[in-house]
Amino acid sequence: MQIWNDQGKLLRLNLALTTSLVMLIAILMVLVFPGSRPISMEGSAAEAVTESTAPAVLPAQIPVLMYHSISVNPTNRLCVSPAEFARHLDWLKAKGYTSVTLKDYLIARATCGPLPAKPVIITLDDGYDDNYLAAFPLLKERGMRATVFLIVNQIGRRGYLNLDQITEMRDYGIEFGSHSMSHADLKKAGREVQRKEIRNSKQLLEGALGTEVTSFCYPSGQYNLTAIQEAKMAGYMGAVTVTPGPVKEESRVYELPRVRVYNLGDLTKNLH
Ligand SMILES: [Zn+2]
Repeated sequence: MQIWNDQGKLLRLNLALTTSLVMLIAILMVLVFPGSRPISMEGSAAEAVTESTAPAVLPAQIPVLMYHSISVNPTNRLCVSPAEFARHLDWLKAKGYTSVTLKDYLIARATCGPLPAKPVIITLDDGYDDNYLAAFPLLKERGMRATVFLIVNQIGRRGYLNLDQITEMRDYGIEFGSHSMSHADLKKAGREVQRKEIRNSKQLLEGALGTEVTSFCYPSGQYNLTAIQEAKMAGYMGAVTVTPGPVKEESRVYELPRVRVYNLGDLTKNLH
């Protein structure tokens, strides 16, 4: 009888230990992968993310769209007008795409975590203030998200996002990644310059944003092996290029391709 009692105690002890261990692992997961925390945001962006989060298998292809300025300038192919951008967002919604950030993708890839069945990643390079003035309201209206790559030295300068705008966008669920300190050509730069551009921009952005910066974007798509190594060593989880095409399972995480978008035809041609 004594033995049974002891075994019962042991079993209860084991159960208590196992439960504590599971809880500890869950807490550690949230601490180590803060992006996996349920996102609390104003508006409907949070719904868009949680609603269709299903299988823990990454889709075979994920388009990463590349935009720059959202403004009216018909002669500059880096500018897409707000009306055109709105048409693109509506087309993506109509086709059943759910916008996620690059950070969402990088975390899902690293942890085999879930992503929506048909994700799309909208990226905006350089951090122009029209990303706040024109793109942000259009994204918010539709509960959509995006990743903006900031040139750290340009923050707050004329024509570029300031910290108040960045903070408001961050609170909604827009991700901010680094586009280096000065938009230097990282292919021509030596390792020391690469290190400063890549590492310092991450640290400064993290200090300003209060969140981990996981995504890097090579300025003008220029990079080489040492730039990749520096991005990795600085602690980024991945980086995007201007190599055309969708992200596939076999895509190298520090050389992710993107789809350059100017007009609706660029979407209908590349996305289905
Ligand atoms: Zn750029």
